[in-house]
Amino acid sequence: MLLVNTFDVEPWWATVPPCVPDEAWDGMADRSVAPIRDYLDLCDAAGVRCTFFFVGWYAQRFPERVREVVARGHEAGCHSMRHRDIATLSDAEFVADTREAKSMVEDAAGREVIAYRAPSFSFPPERAAGLVGMLWELGFRIDSSISTAGRIHGGGFQKSRFPAPGPLDDTLGSPMFEVPVPGVALLGRELQLFGGGYLRLAPSFLLNRLVRRETYQVLYVHPHDFDSDLPDLPNSSPLSNMRRRIRSGRLQDKVLMLFKQCEVLSCGELFERSKLQMQAAHTEVAAV
Ligand SMILES: [Zn+2]
Repeated sequence: MLLVNTFDVEPWWATVPPCVPDEAWDGMADRSVAPIRDYLDLCDAAGVRCTFFFVGWYAQRFPERVREVVARGHEAGCHSMRHRDIATLSDAEFVADTREAKSMVEDAAGREVIAYRAPSFSFPPERAAGLVGMLWELGFRIDSSISTAGRIHGGGFQKSRFPAPGPLDDTLGSPMFEVPVPGVALLGRELQLFGGGYLRLAPSFLLNRLVRRETYQVLYVHPHDFDSDLPDLPNSSPLSNMRRRIRSGRLQDKVLMLFKQCEVLSCGELFERSKLQMQAAHTEVAAV
């Protein structure tokens, strides 16, 4: 199975809808240092690269963390400014938010950022073509916002239209290279079993079985997924706090098991490989 390795770097209180007002963000205690360092070590141990999608606010506040990720051979992508639900933003607000976030991550990384992921995969399907077009105009060349799973927020794209990574010419009329996040058919539903809460909850034997059944998946984790001592979210229900803490087994062990069994690539590595394959195909056609 091809596994695309991604890590969404957002503060542990960055929920959709927001539970902490913007003006209180600077006063919150950050808990992401250890999870990010541990994940970098995990990637080193397995010899794999990862795309880290940073929230712009985070990159501005902790630029040294972005620099460390890049210095250790990984990619910095953009995950919006403050993790707002894209469905609540107008097109103009989306462009302003994304432009600001891109420049924050680029300033911290010291290089161009070409990969984007929407907070909580919150692209409304009916606006996707327009949003992807705006991303292209802003200089992005890779998107990973399309999820084919049914989610509380976002997702809901048709899996048959977005089955694998590739350009969106035929589906959304854009040359953008999409790394769609597929749902896994289980118990009559499409679940995002390779990321977030589902991944924390999924037992290893199930992941083992899915690795043999599926051909392509996207791993996505967050700092709070590795935080076994996560505080309660402010202004949130006991149920949402329980959902964020629930887990079975150590997530690090599951990730390492996946790294060992799969071909693991970052979004950028996959994009470069796809360009080479297209070039080779063109050369072949020209030769014929
Ligand atoms: Zn996120």
